[in-house]
Amino acid sequence: MDSKSPKLEIFFFPYVGGGHQIPMTDLARLFASHGVKSTILITPSNTLLFQKSIQRDQQSGHDINLHPLKLPPGEPDIADVTMSAAPLTDTSILRDPLHLLLQEIQPDCIVVDMFHLWAVDVVDGLGIPRIAFGGNGCFFSSAFDSIIRHTPHEKVDSDYDPFVVPGLPDRIEMTRSQLPPMVRNNSTGFGDMMAKLEQGSFGFVVNSFYELEPAYVDYFKKEMGKKAWLVGPVSVCNRNVEDKAERGQKASIDEHSCLSWLNSKEPNSVLYISFGSVARLAPQQLLEIAYGLKESDHPFIWVVGKILKSSGIDGGGGGEEENWLPDGFEKRMMESNKGLIIRGWAPQLLILEHPATGGFMTHCGWNSTTEGVSAGVPMITWPLGAEQFFNEKLITDVLRIGVKVGSVDWVSWNSKQEVSVGREKVKEVVERLMGGGDEAAEMRKRARELGEKAKRAVEEGGSSYADAEALIEELKSRRKIDS
Ligand code: UDP
Repeated sequence: MDSKSPKLEIFFFPYVGGGHQIPMTDLARLFASHGVKSTILITPSNTLLFQKSIQRDQQSGHDINLHPLKLPPGEPDIADVTMSAAPLTDTSILRDPLHLLLQEIQPDCIVVDMFHLWAVDVVDGLGIPRIAFGGNGCFFSSAFDSIIRHTPHEKVDSDYDPFVVPGLPDRIEMTRSQLPPMVRNNSTGFGDMMAKLEQGSFGFVVNSFYELEPAYVDYFKKEMGKKAWLVGPVSVCNRNVEDKAERGQKASIDEHSCLSWLNSKEPNSVLYISFGSVARLAPQQLLEIAYGLKESDHPFIWVVGKILKSSGIDGGGGGEEENWLPDGFEKRMMESNKGLIIRGWAPQLLILEHPATGGFMTHCGWNSTTEGVSAGVPMITWPLGAEQFFNEKLITDVLRIGVKVGSVDWVSWNSKQEVSVGREKVKEVVERLMGGGDEAAEMRKRARELGEKAKRAVEEGGSSYADAEALIEELKSRRKIDS
């Protein structure tokens, strides 16, 4: 270690995928704003994605940079320029470049994403302090741990019979159909992975904040005995329009057209609909959403992403499928100024934080969840896979800031998708949240209060600010011991 360097230096090693790379980049930016020298390790084709926001941070005096790991000659990059490495892609091709870099510059600490599990041995072998990043919150970790320990899902007769998750601070009911197959089959894969990530690490850095899930932070730390620093929501570090608009990828819509469309709408009148960076719905499901939106007649921004036949979701033989909307739907929505359809990447933070946005139909990815919370927006929850059914429980049953659409079957992001929610249900939940009843007003009030707490948490004097400082102090005192 370079004990002469006055600054604490932390490396951040994100997995190459939207839901992982985006929050860890924000995490690095957040620590840089606390006076740390932050270095983000990326693959060469990823360099451009975050360059502009990093440059802006540098211009405002923060010590932060991107470091591309050099791949062996002739090796293709893991992710393409759209950051779209598939979940669980083997990234161990980066082992030698990481090892070389860490030998050359030994940082005070490295934050390692759970999907780079192989990196644990490299980092620990060099005696560099390591911090684990799982990318999810304490509610999920607590509920998951309880299910693995007590196997309540084995005591019900069918996949759709509810069981109570034992020992949690709230009464949480789930069904076997909502659990990932590895949990249903009692495979210890994920638990083992997290155990390996944690073993020998300094602890977890978590993209959450104490006031969001206090009972579960306590459960995570006391019942499960984990060491954790809650420093989020990390997305709050995006304070200007440029940062919010260019997060991870260039948005498919110009931010000014998006903002002027939103500016033309009443406060809290627009529903924003997005299913994250990975999920793709079946064209028939999109059709049901389109009809539901048309019937409910509320303004909306809908991010449909790209629908690829080759993804297997429509059983087709490759190429792009664009003709899934009802005839003339998009034209009518545009002409009437009722709906904005974004194909590709949306400036999500910009939309969520606009005063006209009054609801978020979400797949409950953890980043989308914390971003919706920070924006103070109530949600319509439509979980699909990963740990999203757990996040739905937090949003609807614990925080009471969301309405369930009624999705009950866990599906893998790359399996053939079915229609799970019909147009009538879509219309019903949209009206429940956007229609202005008492229930929606209560949810909106709770969401707004939570949004204020989220923003306060990362400000000086807030709980996340204090946790970030505590981690920095701990690393500094470790440095003194070692030197
Ligand atoms: N995102 C975005 N524009 C899009 C889709 C996604 O900015 O069109 C961002 C979103 O703000 C979030 C991340 O991508 O930060 C998605 O992460 P999340 O955990 O919600 O879902 P995942 O993509 O991992 O399923």
